[in-house]
Amino acid sequence: MRYPLKNWKRLKRGYSFGAKTFYSDFHLGTDYLVPDGTPVFAPLKCEIVKVGNFPEGGNTIHVKMMEKEYGLLVMRLMHLSKVFPLGKYKAGEILGRTGNTGSLTRGPHLHIDLSRGKVKTGVCKNFIDPDKFFSLRPSRRRN
Ligand SMILES: [Zn+2]
Repeated sequence: MRYPLKNWKRLKRGYSFGAKTFYSDFHLGTDYLVPDGTPVFAPLKCEIVKVGNFPEGGNTIHVKMMEKEYGLLVMRLMHLSKVFPLGKYKAGEILGRTGNTGSLTRGPHLHIDLSRGKVKTGVCKNFIDPDKFFSLRPSRRRN
């Protein structure tokens, strides 16, 4: 498992998983405060299955991956400045670059959320805490 962003542990966080935000009672992921254009890396072997521009999340990608403990997961990356094309990626490859797109952002950051199976934004229990997930088996590489 690789971290999606460099200096993962030292990055400043915005809204944490489950936090009440200015737009909802349960933040579905974690916000990482990084400058525009920061590369986002594939944590595991994965596939970009959806790419789009949405009013709230801005440029967004959906990344499907299998993890031993959790099974099928969909990772969403939002507010991106650049998205990479649909297709399969190896762990450590770049999936996109962070930005500040969409209405639900007040400054450059990356929103990551992770849901089991299909994304159902109304079902909070399907989502897992990205910080806990990526600490499961942290990479030994300095990433
Ligand atoms: Zn967020």
